[in-house]
Amino acid sequence: MALKVGLVGYGTIGKRVADAIAIQKDMELAGITSHTYNYRTEVAKRKGMKIFSTNGKEDFEKNGIKIEGDFNALLDDAEVIVDCTPKGIGASNKENLYVPQKKKAIFQGGEKASVGDVSFVAQCNYNEALNKDFVRVVSCNTTGLCRTLDPINKKYGIESVHATMVRRAADPWDIYHGPINAVVPVLELPSHHGPDVRTVLKDVEIFTTAMSVPTTLMHMHSLTVDLKKAAKSEEILDLLRETTRVRVVRNAERVRSTAEIMEFAKDLGRLRGDMFEICIWEEGLGVHGKKLFYLQAIHQESDVVLENVDAIRAATGFKDAQKSIEMTNDSLMVNRF
Ligand code: NAD
Repeated sequence: MALKVGLVGYGTIGKRVADAIAIQKDMELAGITSHTYNYRTEVAKRKGMKIFSTNGKEDFEKNGIKIEGDFNALLDDAEVIVDCTPKGIGASNKENLYVPQKKKAIFQGGEKASVGDVSFVAQCNYNEALNKDFVRVVSCNTTGLCRTLDPINKKYGIESVHATMVRRAADPWDIYHGPINAVVPVLELPSHHGPDVRTVLKDVEIFTTAMSVPTTLMHMHSLTVDLKKAAKSEEILDLLRETTRVRVVRNAERVRSTAEIMEFAKDLGRLRGDMFEICIWEEGLGVHGKKLFYLQAIHQESDVVLENVDAIRAATGFKDAQKSIEMTNDSLMVNRF
């Protein structure tokens, strides 16, 4: 029997996770919540999703949207919830609704690590989330760092990492945030990303710095990794080519920028032009002694979608991590091209 999953917070991440849940053979989308009537609600209606409201009915019904019920009605119907609300709201939903109603929930990386019994990146620590009530999928940046550092740590051992995050200013649809003509350093050392990586990769010594730049497409990371064992660039590239949810891209094929990566994803026929994999440039990876340098790009809107689907399975007791990752990947054409 398909697992009934409710999606709370149908925004940038939520609408993608809802679509991903709807195409899993072992899951059924019980419905989504909408907070305010907008074009996303219209799309959910056209896709035939059941729409529940976290904010009254009037505005929706005035616009011809049938509301199935309130937040509690979705909670009654769903066996597990994925909460994709803006940061802080997930934590209050947990205290006010999920804990009292004994409902398992998956949270996003904007929430503090303490919201979950475990912070989660499927290919790194799936088993730690088995049968847990509350799982926090880490942020898009932390997911990207964990996906590439974990295999390197397992094969060569990591003494320490320094990573600089060059962050997109806002998501492409977002007309409210910037900068539009400045580079804005994060004046906090380390930036929150390093400590967040350690909620998943507990033995990796990592220090991060960050800045925001005027682009909406992707984040970019520049990493310097001190390895315990010497390695050749070609060996590390082979390791990353074999790593799921990581894609080695090449200047030689004229993928030279985040713009070309996003165009590549569209040409692959991905829904919304999403690039779920972390992209590492072949020509941007090098080794000097035991120091490894590489550049990677993260599609902030979509990399965590895969983790949410696997987190649902882990929290509800599906034991085979590899199988879950394969099922999720297959459904979204990940690692297929
Ligand atoms: P978003 O603003 O695009 O979407 C949030 C949705 O929640 C909207 O549909 C909004 O209407 C709804 N909402 C607002 N208040 C609500 C309430 N009180 N109850 C129910 N729904 C409410 O946000 P997002 O970018 O999708 O971020 C969601 C979470 O995912 C955050 O924790 C964020 O940190 C994390 N995240 C975001 C990105 C990204 O790049 N956008 C990447 C990874 C993780």
